[in-house]
Amino acid sequence: MREARRWPGSEWLKDRPRALERIYDWAERLLRLLYPLLNRISPKATERLLIWSEEVGKGYLFNCQMCGQCILHSTGMTCPMNCPKNLRNGPCGGVRRDGHCEVIPERMCVWVQAWERSQAMPRYGHEITLIQPPVDRSLHRTSAWINLLEGIDTQTPPGWGTNHGSS
Ligand code: SF4
Repeated sequence: MREARRWPGSEWLKDRPRALERIYDWAERLLRLLYPLLNRISPKATERLLIWSEEVGKGYLFNCQMCGQCILHSTGMTCPMNCPKNLRNGPCGGVRRDGHCEVIPERMCVWVQAWERSQAMPRYGHEITLIQPPVDRSLHRTSAWINLLEGIDTQTPPGWGTNHGSS
């Protein structure tokens, strides 16, 4: 994981999850409208533009690790990939009594923050209880927006889910 950064102002913004939730909604609606046209004009340029915008925008605000399967709106607008253990379904058993991280004691647990922020999100807050699938590492450094719009982020990679056990 890249060194977790806290750019000036980013923590203040993340503590406004209700506003961020609205911005996420608008961005998704806008992209659903524009993406087919942009993609028709130039798929490569569209991909480059979206990857760049995610690296810069989400990088600044959420310390995005470019996992390619963004679940920010389901995790209190708090990036779960900032958890040193990359947990996407809640905290480990090592959260300290003061809510800080077991691995990086000077930081709050990502999942404590995710839970608290999700409680302020009227539209998507309940999604924090959804079970998230494992991260598909083959999507690393791809555009999460494109993966969402194309339905790629919900596809099960070949070989996953195959039961090799005997009954
Ligand atoms: S969930 Fe993935 S795409 Fe979304 S901010 Fe975190 S690393 Fe980036």
